[in-house]
Amino acid sequence: MRALYLFRNDLRLADNPGLLAHADGEALLCVYCWPATPAWCNLTGIGEQRDRFLRETLRALQEELEALGQGLLVLHTDPRTAIPQLVEMFDIDRVGIGGAPGHYEDRQLKALRERLDVPLTLYDNTTLYDADQLPGGLDKLAKQFTPFRRAVEDLPVATPLEQAATLPPPPEGAQFRAVTSSSVKPHPAFPLRGGSAEAQRRLRQWMFERKRVQEYKFTRNYLDGLDGSSVLSPWLASGALSPRQAAFALFKYEDAEGRNESTEHLFMELLWREFFQWRARVDGARLFHPGGLRKKKQLRTFEARDFARWCQGDTDSPLVNALMHQLTATGWMSNRGRQIAASYLINELNHDWRYGAAFFEKHLVDYDVGSNYGNWQYIAGVGTDPRGGRHFNIDKQASQYDPDGSFTAKWDGQRVVQPRYINDAADWPIEQS
Ligand SMILES: Cc1cc2nc3c(=O)[nH]c(=O)nc-3n(C[C@H](O)[C@H](O)[C@H](O)COP(=O)(O)OP(=O)(O)OC[C@H]3O[C@@H](n4cnc5c(N)ncnc54)[C@H](O)[C@@H]3O)c2cc1C
Repeated sequence: MRALYLFRNDLRLADNPGLLAHADGEALLCVYCWPATPAWCNLTGIGEQRDRFLRETLRALQEELEALGQGLLVLHTDPRTAIPQLVEMFDIDRVGIGGAPGHYEDRQLKALRERLDVPLTLYDNTTLYDADQLPGGLDKLAKQFTPFRRAVEDLPVATPLEQAATLPPPPEGAQFRAVTSSSVKPHPAFPLRGGSAEAQRRLRQWMFERKRVQEYKFTRNYLDGLDGSSVLSPWLASGALSPRQAAFALFKYEDAEGRNESTEHLFMELLWREFFQWRARVDGARLFHPGGLRKKKQLRTFEARDFARWCQGDTDSPLVNALMHQLTATGWMSNRGRQIAASYLINELNHDWRYGAAFFEKHLVDYDVGSNYGNWQYIAGVGTDPRGGRHFNIDKQASQYDPDGSFTAKWDGQRVVQPRYINDAADWPIEQS
């Protein structure tokens, strides 16, 4: 048998059932298609730090595959075009594809099924649980987090799989080129690199050596630094680390050091991720609708100047400016920071939330469709929040999370306050309430 495996959000060798299922056979062609970034919400392309992190992840995977006599073909082509051509070119008999929950990803899969005349198998490998473990299945998936958590938290998490000891060789004639590295370096404030080995290093250091998980519940809202929260999200999003690997590391820590409210809280956050992964499968295109899952009518604006100022970190809020500078410089922002920046755009600027989500999509090194759009909808009150949205008092957040202003100063948040009016095309001053 000659197989092709298309990696998506599962850029790892270990705990990868899809890859393992292709570890026998005569030949195997490993492929990855660079994410398409069509124009959306006045934005296009991916930010330089997200681009860097993805390149590092792919280069690391290429090296790991090479050590097994394999290679990774990285294409800047839509898989709907590329995979059928490769199947024909290399006389492939079966195709496997890694998980990537999301509406456009599902459409890709559907189109591929229609275009291929060889069997195609999807390996859902981005979650803690399998779909058939979910009580009631996907049809009965809870619409809110708390009932979801209660339904799943006691389910067994499957042990992560070992990586295949050997893989079949690539088909004759397949040629691989190393992904070019980024000219951008990681920002010194966020010196993390892509790839599975780096993910394991971060887990080891944060959880086992520095034991930061011990107090995680009380530090997770830190706006800066690498001590407060696990910062595992970039590797979880690319799949360089599987959620089961993260959960099993946590279980191992609890066995050795004991369970406490912080370790339990970290598991709960993994369940938040899980919730949004499954919701993304069920909610499809509604994840991108202005009225969200609730199809709620909202009177929002698109004011280009406000949006540009928010993106550039040039608003009237020094804390929001600092957060936006942190995001574009490093590709990362803490969960608390994301909530503050999102609430400001939605509630203070009365802006369509999707523009903010698109800007986060462009820059976050941990961009994940379900978690990003799901969290934005949650804050905008059009998603899964039972309280109908969150409006953060920005001054209160600043005094609680940046009491001495050091975060705001470090990320250059102070800006001259600008007049709250603009001129329209005919130069009429328009009051903004
Ligand atoms: C507006 C907004 C946009 C977001 N966009 C993304 C995104 O694109 N990708 C992404 O992975 N997370 C997103 N999040 C969720 C959360 O902010 C990040 O997962 C978290 O900050 C990552 O840091 P960490 O790994 O240190 O998290 P930790 O606090 O250490 O949590 C461990 C893991 O749990 C998961 N997790 C934690 N909080 C959440 C949450 N609220 N929702 C979903 N999963 C969670 C993540 O996988 C995280 O790595 C967003 C949150 C908001 C408010």
